[in-house]
Amino acid sequence: MQALPSALALADLHRRWRSVAQHMVLGEAELVLLLRLDPLASLRALRAAHTPAFRTGHDLTSIQAAVQCLGVPVTRQLLEDTPPVHTPSTELRTLWRHSIATALAAEYLAQKGGLMHPPAAYLLGLLHDLPLWLQWIQATLQPQEPTRTAAHWLAHWQLPTSLQSALLVTFRTDSSQEPPHDAGSLVRTAERLASLAGFPHPAADEQAAIAALAAADKSDLATAQQLRRRVEGALRTFGFDQAIPEAELDRSPPPTILTGQREGGLDELVLRVLGGGRPERHLGIVTALTAAAVRFCGYDRAFHGRWNPATGRLHLRTKCEAAARRLTLKTLQPTPGELAALRTAQQTGDPVLLQAPFGPPAGLLGVLSTDELLAVPMNRELAQPAFLLLDRSVQLTPIELGTDQAKAQTLGIMGSMLHESLLLRRRQQRAQKFAVTDPLTRLSNRRMGLAALEREVARAERSGRQLTVLMCDLDHFKQLNDAYGHLQGDVALQAAADVLRQTVRRGDVVCRYGGEEFLVVLAETSPDEAAVLAARLFTAIAAHGEQLGLPLTVSIGLTSYRAGDTAAALLQRADGALYASKGHGRNRFSADVDATDLPPVPLP
Ligand code: GH3
Ligand code: MG
Ligand code: MG
Repeated sequence: MQALPSALALADLHRRWRSVAQHMVLGEAELVLLLRLDPLASLRALRAAHTPAFRTGHDLTSIQAAVQCLGVPVTRQLLEDTPPVHTPSTELRTLWRHSIATALAAEYLAQKGGLMHPPAAYLLGLLHDLPLWLQWIQATLQPQEPTRTAAHWLAHWQLPTSLQSALLVTFRTDSSQEPPHDAGSLVRTAERLASLAGFPHPAADEQAAIAALAAADKSDLATAQQLRRRVEGALRTFGFDQAIPEAELDRSPPPTILTGQREGGLDELVLRVLGGGRPERHLGIVTALTAAAVRFCGYDRAFHGRWNPATGRLHLRTKCEAAARRLTLKTLQPTPGELAALRTAQQTGDPVLLQAPFGPPAGLLGVLSTDELLAVPMNRELAQPAFLLLDRSVQLTPIELGTDQAKAQTLGIMGSMLHESLLLRRRQQRAQKFAVTDPLTRLSNRRMGLAALEREVARAERSGRQLTVLMCDLDHFKQLNDAYGHLQGDVALQAAADVLRQTVRRGDVVCRYGGEEFLVVLAETSPDEAAVLAARLFTAIAAHGEQLGLPLTVSIGLTSYRAGDTAAALLQRADGALYASKGHGRNRFSADVDATDLPPVPLP
């Protein structure tokens, strides 16, 4: 059973609190806002304060936002679950309202009287019911924990000393000692104001309340009315409306932020994750898994970690926090104990529970600020396997290997499957690409070029649109090879391929037809248009050659589709035209076109 709040959280709280204050926006004002919920919840929130929910940009100015940060499970446990018999839930709600009312009244009185710092007065007002809160928390969550005194808890909370002593004074019935700033009387007045505003203490004596009301003067009542409005506003933010009668409240569904989060079965989990489609990227898998762990398995946080077995380091990614817009990446070094456990998990395939040893936090647990982590191994056969790290550091439910294992393992198996299928798809894509491209020039290979030509011939036959092909052959390439070496020859081939690729339009096909021969298939292109493109090719190829210091020129044969043509017939004519270009001295193009291939000459 986890300590409540755990020893780790308490001892470490101050350090974390300071680092949070240094790096993040959570300050005293935000702490006060969190305490509107409940002191325990705030402790838990602080404990999870390393999570991105508290990073800059996240707005903590409403209770609702605070609840979202605390996590639904804590809130539900605090507000929705039925407390034990001797603390009925209506009493809890009354106490909650009374605490908020007292806190707001104390803040108001401090502002008005300048007696003490208003946020501190707020805190004081809120915490004056601390003994009752603690009773309730202990009774609800940890019956076996021996009752601790308020002073004991306070010591752990590391509140400012003045506030601590003020609180202690308000707890004492025989307050013989003068409290600093007379905080005791401030809180007592605030409490009276809260009762006048209609938020009496659950244990309040009704007769005394009526007497107080009778004794109140006009200005007291006006202040009480103002206070009531403020408290109602605060309650509404949370989803409690004063207009709704108490009995109905008990029957009404929880506030919307608490709904739709119930745990489902394994089948639902599988459907949800796999129903999201096959992620195209690794990050898609990380998101699917971590989101499923938080939404459907009841974890507060989930991290995906690539594991480097050589160094033992984990490279963590997470998107589990609602407030995290991007995936965060972090590298962690586990302790030797954690490493041994992770290795066992990788060997057996079973999840392991990492638990904090006694002493200062270290390793994964220390960096992630938690007492417990469930590490689920994934992709064990890969050189860099992975782990899904799951934690419940905000809510109070300990991780039980027995009950949590099935879901965790299912998540791990799904993660492995998704990852494997992604790798397989990538391999297929690579193989496919390899099969159709020429490795030297990265152009389509001859097979792809011929297939494209067949396709275009069929299309030209159907549509009657023009189709022109160019057969290009680099000039005196054997000489170039002999003079400059084969390596330079390869460079020249790549340069010619680049020019071809850049010169044609999108949708045109260029392939390496043979050694230094290229076939260009120009759909919906007239011979005239193709001639313009060919002219551009001469200039660009020669210019490229000059840049490389190589005598690079090309000869081109051009022909166009005629009715009844096959791909072979076209190629033969193009080859013939190319041969003619070579015969006429190279670095030129020849066309084998019918008069019918050419557009009609406009009459003068
Ligand atoms: P012509 O002007 O008549 O086309 O003369 P040519 O030397 O280019 O004629 P031929 O087609 O006989 O020679 C082509 C040469 O291209 C032969 C071959 O060594 C070279 N070649 C073919 N493929 C490659 C290649 O991948 N890299 C290099 N460096 N050379 C290649
Ligand atoms: Mg040649
Ligand atoms: Mg050749």
